[in-house]
Amino acid sequence: MNINDKRYSRFSDYLKKKYGKKIIKISLNAGFTCPNIDGSKAYGGCIYCSNKGSGDFAGVPSNDLVTQFNNVKERMSKKWKNGLYLPYFQAYTNTYAPLDVLKKKYEAVLYLDNVIGIDIATRPDCLEDDLVDYLAEISKTKEVWVELGLQSIYDETARIINRGHDFNEFLIGLNKLRAKNINVCVHIINGLPNETREMMMNTLKKVNELDIQAIKIHLLHVLKDTPLENMYKKGKFKVMEKMDYVNLVVDQLEVLRPEILVQRVTGDGGRDELIAPLWSLKKFELLNEIDWEFLRRKTKQGYYV
Ligand code: SF4
Repeated sequence: MNINDKRYSRFSDYLKKKYGKKIIKISLNAGFTCPNIDGSKAYGGCIYCSNKGSGDFAGVPSNDLVTQFNNVKERMSKKWKNGLYLPYFQAYTNTYAPLDVLKKKYEAVLYLDNVIGIDIATRPDCLEDDLVDYLAEISKTKEVWVELGLQSIYDETARIINRGHDFNEFLIGLNKLRAKNINVCVHIINGLPNETREMMMNTLKKVNELDIQAIKIHLLHVLKDTPLENMYKKGKFKVMEKMDYVNLVVDQLEVLRPEILVQRVTGDGGRDELIAPLWSLKKFELLNEIDWEFLRRKTKQGYYV
């Protein structure tokens, strides 16, 4: 075993193998809001959601989508020449509009040169039938991914974080997409208030039983000016320690089916917004620790499946 061999099925490796080139994901802010913020579902949003709608590295919404796309593409092309691109509609809820509005936004970037498809982050309770049909149609010729936020299978946690939907609604959204064969990447968060390690493992195990194609495992970040920051400052919960997180993620990946692609094993908290845990700013150190832990254990993703 070599430290440079990844012990889990990285999404980036999968895409590179499929298309023969580096695929560069370009995060966009298409100017949406969220039904969990504007009152149509709830007010205030998830307690950890930043004022950028959890799209802290997405573009500036005052720029049109092509400008946002080109700005990132130009930066990235210095690092990766001859890459292909996957636009990622990241900030807020990227299916929260009538289909004609959505189509206009998606298609502004979908048919640009060297774009392989589209990746859309959304909520499981915001998937209209006509949108799902449209995505199924374009997925016949393009790479289409929908990223669904779940965060935890526990409804009591969903209430604490003001998620605005329960596990059953997540299952309905997931089934809708899978009935049309659309690729789904599920987001979960480790370290949510009141959750034990066992609960976090159970979320992973449950998700592992579902028909999903990829997963993003996030670390809970406490960001400035969020309700979570108030809770944290009042001592209502503690953030995870680095090695606890490393051990948990490795435990989770060891029981994750090997064919499920791993898009992330931690999140990105913007340096200016992050309150805690500050160790997470050293992302490469964290990723290395996860690799080392696999090496120490001599295991890999799906080892205990
Ligand atoms: S669903 Fe996403 S955009 Fe909406 S409040 Fe929660 S984290 Fe923010």
